[in-house]
Amino acid sequence: GDASLDIDLLVIGAGPGGYVAAIRAAQLGQKVIIADKGKFGGVCLNVGCIPSKALINSAHHYEAMQHAADYGLSADNISVDFGKVQAYKTSVVNKMTGGVEMLLKANKVQMFQGEAMFINENEARLFNENEAPRYRFKNCIIATGSRPIELKPFPFGGRILSSTEGLSLPELPKSLVVIGGGYIGIELGQMYAKFGVQVTILEGADTILPGFDKDMSQLVVKKLKKSNVEIVNGALAKSAEQTDKDVTVTYEVGGEQKSVTADYLLVTVGRRPNTDGDLGLELAGVKVGERGLIEVDEQCRTNVKHIFAIGDIVPGAALAHKASYEAKVAAEAIAGLPAKVDYKCIPAVAFSDPECASVGYTEKEAKEKGYKAKSSKFPFGGNGRAVTLNGADGFLKIVHDTDTGLVLGAQIAGVEASNMIAELGLAIEMGATIEDIALTIHAHPTLGEITMDAAELAMGHPIHTI
Ligand code: FAD
Repeated sequence: GDASLDIDLLVIGAGPGGYVAAIRAAQLGQKVIIADKGKFGGVCLNVGCIPSKALINSAHHYEAMQHAADYGLSADNISVDFGKVQAYKTSVVNKMTGGVEMLLKANKVQMFQGEAMFINENEARLFNENEAPRYRFKNCIIATGSRPIELKPFPFGGRILSSTEGLSLPELPKSLVVIGGGYIGIELGQMYAKFGVQVTILEGADTILPGFDKDMSQLVVKKLKKSNVEIVNGALAKSAEQTDKDVTVTYEVGGEQKSVTADYLLVTVGRRPNTDGDLGLELAGVKVGERGLIEVDEQCRTNVKHIFAIGDIVPGAALAHKASYEAKVAAEAIAGLPAKVDYKCIPAVAFSDPECASVGYTEKEAKEKGYKAKSSKFPFGGNGRAVTLNGADGFLKIVHDTDTGLVLGAQIAGVEASNMIAELGLAIEMGATIEDIALTIHAHPTLGEITMDAAELAMGHPIHTI
């Protein structure tokens, strides 16, 4: 047999969980090898966050050009070459994944392109076409991520797409049906709608973007309708029949059977953790719990004390920044530092139009936790910068505890909500009060002033609203 090579830390998976863990551990003096059977950068950089935002950016500019007259401009013969849009997306992805490999290399992390399988709790084999080395690790971080959930009546292939194919269509379809109005379905559906595709969204719940307050998702609904998107709430998708040129989806709504035919069907109904298959978690003795998720302690340790799990394979929000956060905690725990997770402040963002972002508690959640919570809502229409950006449609809500003044949460729907949420995360993290925000001088004219205005409103002396 072959002898095992010794390594301090084996990281399995090079998404925003794995690659960050590998870099942090290397910084702390560990000898690290990281394996990925797909592409370095994981879902996030290759078929998730980054390519979706690149396409959304193209769609946004295309829409803005159509409304050039609003800004005193004229733009004639505007057209989309979707092949070139895809090339732009690919160039963005390549820059970012190239950056990840460069960082790993600079930190002297050994990279292995291939699959990892456990042999036992101390050893794993790494495989590719050319070699299959065997490693004995002191510690291991599993960061194998997730894949799209495939529903029985809608097997991926042909005209039925997962988000992965939905990001890579070579040309624009004329029409698209989306099953699932979560953030991925809405981001992709709205992107296509802005390019002129006739989009129908089938959502089982009574609202899209179920993770966000209804007053937020309503703004997105309004904008979707402007792009002629049809949204069917309370829709139970039942079956799909495809020909070589289209697909017909049958669904039930309000007790009635209906159907819709389109060029493609995009199914975005959630993601499943990659804890099954050939990874061999059982050989390592790692327990897998409900829905395929691995239970971990506050240092991201599994039931096997030198094996850690992070990112989409552990409970909690399946978001890139949560994976990276856990990565740093696990790497530091392995290096003997007193790190542990604190989830009170994980922002969530939908890159819809307008963007929706939240952090901490909503007013309702805060009250359930026993706080004397108050929510103060300031409109984007009262902010000069928002108006210059054609972004008057939006609002920021800030939730604080009226006993202590502590900021407990915030919800933002509007242009650049994704960037604005950071200040509120910092406020919660640092234990800032509503007064701290109100007293902080925010540059004029910026969207940041909305946050200050909302804080003044919360204190009862707003300047820019009545
Ligand atoms: P992943 O990124 O899934 O990476 C896991 C890696 O492990 C993969 O590269 C895989 O090849 C590898 N792997 C699996 N098994 C093995 C094995 N046995 N051996 C070797 N390698 C293996 N999140 C956000 O925060 N913001 C967004 O805007 C956002 N947009 C998204 C848009 C879309 C369309 C999708 C699909 C997701 C989006 N996400 C977004 C979610 C985000 O991509 C995930 O939460 C994140 O990628 C999870 O990181 P991870 O490190 O846990 O796993």
